[in-house]
Amino acid sequence: MFSYRHGFHAGNHADVLKHMVLIAVVKHLTAKPAALTVIDTHAGAGLYRLDSEFADTSGEAQDGILKLAASPLAAQAPALVSDYLELVARFNPSGRMKIYPGSPFVTQALLRQEARDKLRLFELHPTDSKALAAHVEQLEAGRQVAIKREDGFEGLRALLPPPSRRALVLIDPSYEIKSDYGRVGACIQESLKKFATGTYMVWYPVIPRPEAHELPRRLKTLANQAGKPWLHVTLNIGQSPERADTHTPGETPPRQGLTASGVFLVNPPHTLKPALQEALPKVLEVLGRGRGQAQAVEAS
Ligand code: SAM
Repeated sequence: MFSYRHGFHAGNHADVLKHMVLIAVVKHLTAKPAALTVIDTHAGAGLYRLDSEFADTSGEAQDGILKLAASPLAAQAPALVSDYLELVARFNPSGRMKIYPGSPFVTQALLRQEARDKLRLFELHPTDSKALAAHVEQLEAGRQVAIKREDGFEGLRALLPPPSRRALVLIDPSYEIKSDYGRVGACIQESLKKFATGTYMVWYPVIPRPEAHELPRRLKTLANQAGKPWLHVTLNIGQSPERADTHTPGETPPRQGLTASGVFLVNPPHTLKPALQEALPKVLEVLGRGRGQAQAVEAS
């Protein structure tokens, strides 16, 4: 069974990028009255304690949400950043940052009961899927949210196209097994054939591994072949000085030591690129450390 547990990484810089983009996309898609279906193929546990043993062990949120929220920049942040900080703050009404919402809770907070928006979640890990189910139950969201302890790549097949004909698919594997990279590409290829107008959002780690390097290139090719617009964004916060020399090129660093990640979207909202171009330099200003800082937004 997999050993990856998102609790160790919750609220890190990669979550900041992913969830900031996720909020912008869901907000855009829910601005229209028609129902939206969001399918989260790799949902995680849903909610994470930032003061838990997991989070304390890795301390990754310190270089992510906690740093961003404590920055003076938070007071006059660009829309994407302030929307993100406000949403996370809703889970922490006391003002102390104790809880971090994962993608299912980030999404659900923006969905509408009256429009009959739906959230479909897949999580394979026995402990995390149990935690997810318990967390979702507290929402009392009824039939809006459904969870399956199944392979998300497989489960997605049965859900496309959704009856609502409007959908966002979030694919956020842990890439613990190399085959995840290939499965993401195959999944996007098949999904675009079944449901070409859906919005697809893939997260991936930027690491010196051929599969990770190849994935965004493959996704660009697939989007271009399907004649669909795409957007590719990466955030590289640079290595902290004490970790700079510990990484051997060619080897996969543990995700704990991850310094960069990317999000690739097919059929992104047209408003996303300018919003990211405004937000990312500010995020980097706060989260960036040492050398190697970089950010990019490319679009077709
Ligand atoms: N999307 C979550 C978020 O942003 O809060 C984080 C997800 S975490 C990066 C990846 C999750 O996928 C892990 O909880 C792991 O147990 C789960 N997982 C791994 N392989 C899976 C598969 N084939 N189908 C469904 N879930 C899987």
